[in-house]
Amino acid sequence: MSPGGFSARRAKLAAEAAAHARAWGEHEEWVAAAEAREREQREEAARTAELQREAAVRREREQREAVARREREQREETARREREQREAAARREREQREEAARLEAERLAREKEERERPWPCERCSLNNAWNCAACEVCGAPRVAVAPPAGQWGCSSCTVFNSEAEAACTVCSTPRFRK
Ligand SMILES: [Zn+2]
Ligand SMILES: [Zn+2]
Repeated sequence: MSPGGFSARRAKLAAEAAAHARAWGEHEEWVAAAEAREREQREEAARTAELQREAAVRREREQREAVARREREQREETARREREQREAAARREREQREEAARLEAERLAREKEERERPWPCERCSLNNAWNCAACEVCGAPRVAVAPPAGQWGCSSCTVFNSEAEAACTVCSTPRFRK
């Protein structure tokens, strides 16, 4: 082998080695870039997963709050309805009591008017007060008039009393003397 051939062979080998080194370097870069890409993808995936977790937690909290809000509103609505019903019942009761009191007062007034009606004397025609057993002018006794149905005449003051009364409502004389 000539010295020229030797050096040409060395140069060729060196060029090959340089090409190998370049190729190796490119390969290293490619691997590093691939690793970097992979790391970025992993980080991106982790970020996405974290965001999704946070969104899920937020959604769950919002749903819980919405349920709690609905329940509170329903409770308030129920309480409001019950209060209104109680108030309406109390109002009805009060109105019924007032109406009953009014009717009772009217009945008592009618009874009083009936009881305290003056009576005309048969002899002198004077109108005597209801509680006079005899005419104030001529002394004629109040004529016993047959009591209306369901009533009885007091033997003492002649007032008519309801059958329900055991004694005269005016002078307390018992209906049936013993
Ligand atoms: Zn008289
Ligand atoms: Zn009487």
